[in-house]
Amino acid sequence: MIKLESTENSFIDVSKYENISEGRLDGRMFIAEKMAISECINTLKNFQENYLEEYKSGDVESRNDILNGLHSSFCNSLGVNALLKFEPMGVFQMGCHNPETNTVAINDMMLCDSDPKEIIQIDLHEIRHAFQEKAVRMPFSVDIDDVTIQQWEDNFANYISPELDFEAYLDQPVEADANIFASIVYDNAFNNKQI
Ligand SMILES: [Zn+2]
Repeated sequence: MIKLESTENSFIDVSKYENISEGRLDGRMFIAEKMAISECINTLKNFQENYLEEYKSGDVESRNDILNGLHSSFCNSLGVNALLKFEPMGVFQMGCHNPETNTVAINDMMLCDSDPKEIIQIDLHEIRHAFQEKAVRMPFSVDIDDVTIQQWEDNFANYISPELDFEAYLDQPVEADANIFASIVYDNAFNNKQI
């Protein structure tokens, strides 16, 4: 397994956020969450600089190793310890998080794609679900406001599957949040934009 080093946090000036003791940054983020997102972005920038070419030209096994390294770093930043595994799935299923085993499963067919964009975004998305589950189980362990945690809890209890209503599936709080999280991390790492 390749362990990706977390690079220096070069663009977040922490002192800027010291006076913000409560409330959400940018309408939705607390300080700890902003820091976690920054770390994930830096992990992905490190991947881009040091492992992307190896990923593209590598075989399924080396891609698996690289992704496991990325996955561990993302999990450390978010304070979750979800396992990652690749397994056969239907063509339209890309990944899922199982809260009972705290496992992120990703369709193993995606390892055949030399472009890692989709598989990384799916991993980020599913890790975010692991984080949401943790927030609901242990609200005091995360830096997320009570209203949002309650929304996530209600949503997990009344989850809308994509087969039932695809639009409503995308719009529900836990899916919207996981998609936003994955986009923020991926887009910032690959476009070098600041959050
Ligand atoms: Zn999801």
